[in-house]
Amino acid sequence: YEEQYEQHWEKLQQTLELDNIEGFRNEFLDMHPYDQAMFFIEQEKSVRLQIYTYLSPEEVADIMESMDEEEQVRDLISEMDPRFASMVLAEMSADNAVDILNEMDKDHIASFLTIMDPSAADEIKQLLHYEEKTAGSIMTTEYIATYKTNTAKQTMQQLKEQAPDAETIYYLYVLDEDKRLVGVLSLRDLIVAQEDTRIEAIMMEKVVAVSVGKDQEEIAQMMRDYDFLALPVVDFQDHLLGIITVDDIMDVMEEEASDDYSKLAGVTDVERPNDS
Ligand code: ATP
Ligand code: MG
Repeated sequence: YEEQYEQHWEKLQQTLELDNIEGFRNEFLDMHPYDQAMFFIEQEKSVRLQIYTYLSPEEVADIMESMDEEEQVRDLISEMDPRFASMVLAEMSADNAVDILNEMDKDHIASFLTIMDPSAADEIKQLLHYEEKTAGSIMTTEYIATYKTNTAKQTMQQLKEQAPDAETIYYLYVLDEDKRLVGVLSLRDLIVAQEDTRIEAIMMEKVVAVSVGKDQEEIAQMMRDYDFLALPVVDFQDHLLGIITVDDIMDVMEEEASDDYSKLAGVTDVERPNDS
């Protein structure tokens, strides 16, 4: 297997040396984004700059999203042409883009946001306001919502339109006329429903939700307790603001585990002296 891997890398390297865009894209986009990332970070900066010109912002965003280290992604974003970088950030899911921007200084954030597609910039700006380590700071605004008076058929149609950009399509959150969260159903629930059934007839009314200021560690615990793949985030009037998915929570658990480890080991965290 390793050998195959090496051969593949060599092939990629050759296409780059020959400036064979078509050949590179064929080989490269065949790989899983994680493997793409592995290849990518092994390259010299000059080679990466070449690769950016071969790929679309969306393709580069996929690579960025498969990397774990926010600082690393920030450095890569910073080496790109700013206009291209802002398109990459816009293609990333809003919560991930915010994590990266939060690693930059204020001037850089502002300059990216001004050249970015306005609707993506607006979404990111909203998320930037939330306090670190709260539900608001880890949620994403790309969720699927429907109204309780819609039929299953209408909702299915809507789902088709919203699905390409949604973080998960597995849960559909149900809103009333004031856009308050009043129910939830799973994709399975929707698929098995009769087409003319109203959503309010099949939704689950007792929605487990978290408030936007809730601490991320408590949310991780809730996610474990309830075993949902995502949790909705609401304001004090039950308006749906976003969702937190399991993968966001895995990042949190990793972070909290290393914090706890530092405490055990007696390492002082200079950045958070008031952490209890
Ligand atoms: P099942 O467990 O019945 O096989 P499933 O595997 O399709 O269902 P689960 O993820 O287990 O889906 O969710 C089960 C049910 O939980 C779904 O019907 C869904 O409506 C409901 N649900 C999802 N999120 C929430 C939530 N935040 N609060 C309350 N119920 C929820
Ligand atoms: Mg289940």
